[in-house]
Amino acid sequence: MSERFRERMSDPAVVKDTRLLGDFCAIYCRGMHADAVRTPLASEGAELGVYGRKLPVVCEECAALLRYAEQRRALCPKDPKPFCSHCDTHCYRPDMREYMRQVMRYAGPRSMVHGHAIDGIRHLIDGRKHHKEMRRTEGA
Ligand code: SF4
Ligand SMILES: [Zn+2]
Repeated sequence: MSERFRERMSDPAVVKDTRLLGDFCAIYCRGMHADAVRTPLASEGAELGVYGRKLPVVCEECAALLRYAEQRRALCPKDPKPFCSHCDTHCYRPDMREYMRQVMRYAGPRSMVHGHAIDGIRHLIDGRKHHKEMRRTEGA
């Protein structure tokens, strides 16, 4: 584990975002990969305790996404950080970006019943606003 990763994971904002990613991936995996073998996440973030005692339970495919997303979030060069979907840097690999997009689309609305009312709602509202702006720009 790099010192930089360890240091960035001590920032409460990074921890909060990483936990949210963990919850979103767990919701997605439970719904979409119900037949897969799912286990508590083993990752550098989990090693540092960023998820608390309740580790996200995911399949190996979703675990790979989460390990990747942990690194991206911790090493994100943007400050303030926008939603990744609105970022002009797009540091995600195209396949991981598409995977995360599916996770967000599935888990965003469902996260409201999992104790993420505000984050879930903000995610939706912000996403809609963004799409409206995109349409306006494209139409201009
Ligand atoms: S996509 Fe943009 S906002 Fe998201 S982690 Fe990468 S650089 Fe940061
Ligand atoms: Zn999965």
